Amino acid sequence: MEESILVVNCGSSSLKLALFGGQNRKIASALAEKLNNDDAFARISGDDQPVRLPAGATHEQALQALVHEFRERQLMKAAPKAIGHRVVHGGETFREAVLVDDATEDGIEACAELAPLHNPVNLAGIRAMRALFPDRPHVVVFDTAYHHTLPERAYRYALPEHCYTEWGIRRYGFHGTSHYFMAREAARLLGKTPATTSVISAHLGNGCSITAIRDGLSVDTSMGLTPLEGLVMGTRSGDVDPGLFDYLAARGISAAEAHRMLNNDSGLLGLSGQTNDMRSLCELADHGHKPSKLAIDVFCFRLARYVGAMTASLPSLDGLVFTGGIGENSPRIRKETVKHLGLLGIELDPELNKNHGRISDGRIDSPDSRFPVLVIPTDEELVIAQEAARLASA
Ligand code: ADP
Repeated sequence: MEESILVVNCGSSSLKLALFGGQNRKIASALAEKLNNDDAFARISGDDQPVRLPAGATHEQALQALVHEFRERQLMKAAPKAIGHRVVHGGETFREAVLVDDATEDGIEACAELAPLHNPVNLAGIRAMRALFPDRPHVVVFDTAYHHTLPERAYRYALPEHCYTEWGIRRYGFHGTSHYFMAREAARLLGKTPATTSVISAHLGNGCSITAIRDGLSVDTSMGLTPLEGLVMGTRSGDVDPGLFDYLAARGISAAEAHRMLNNDSGLLGLSGQTNDMRSLCELADHGHKPSKLAIDVFCFRLARYVGAMTASLPSLDGLVFTGGIGENSPRIRKETVKHLGLLGIELDPELNKNHGRISDGRIDSPDSRFPVLVIPTDEELVIAQEAARLASA
């Protein structure tokens, strides 16, 4: 019987489940949303009929229901060979994927202060799945782990030393699984090996980050202590002047309110006053909505600035890579970003860009471009499945 790997990704109010078979074949996937709400629901991909969940279903209840459904529908005929879990923050404790035991759970809990919205639900998912599959290996893949190779000059903030030594305040970086996939895929598409490939990888989804990858390793990245730093995102501001907090406090806005504003009400949503969804923003801008056009301008300019910043970490560049929902699907955002990079000699081919590189092995640069530019669909679930299979066999 074909061996399978189950991948679990628990978000704050949603979760995704994916089942992989041999040769990286995705057998099935499922999604549960609005967890802990009265209208919680779940769905198996390709099926319009929702999976029944109790009202206010927790992550644990949703996982139980979906695993039951995978079994009922014969999608999962035997217990998986291993279960892979995504965890957002591994702090300085976890520098690579690990097999789960009780000490791992304690370690993830200890990092929860750094990712209070994510690590506790990630852990709830691990505990629920360990209860369902107690005799199977469980493997955790951390969003932060790929960035463990950042040099100190890139990860330290210019703060008093005790902020780092006593409180762990440093830049950690996120989206590591996606950037790692870019390092591998870009090398493959360019006909090179990851260990000799240096790229700048821009992951542009609801969250956005950019990473300088030197010889396959992360050497600088835009997200920091938390996923708030860096690029403009769907609802997150990215970089702001830290003096802002005092300025807001003088206007009666508490640190908690400022935190909420920067995380939930800013970014594309804040600038446009309409939406955090880039596709909708592009439509609004096309219909003459000026704040939406401004949101796109700020997004692309900030991104281009960061491409420039990332070159400081690279002695050579094999390519600029776009990924994530926006990076993979929006010729306009790619074009408007590259427009600011004339000094670097980066140019796009309009036709290849329009086709998202699908007819050209990912390439969208023009023959005159000084550096290749690629569009690569990310697959974080596949990386987690591969890591789970590798550690389970080790
Ligand atoms: P998440 O970070 O939640 O996984 P995604 O990677 O799916 O998010 O990215 C979602 C973003 O991608 C949304 O802003 C969405 O509007 C954008 N997007 C998807 N398709 C397009 C498109 N054709 N043009 C512009 N933006 C797009």
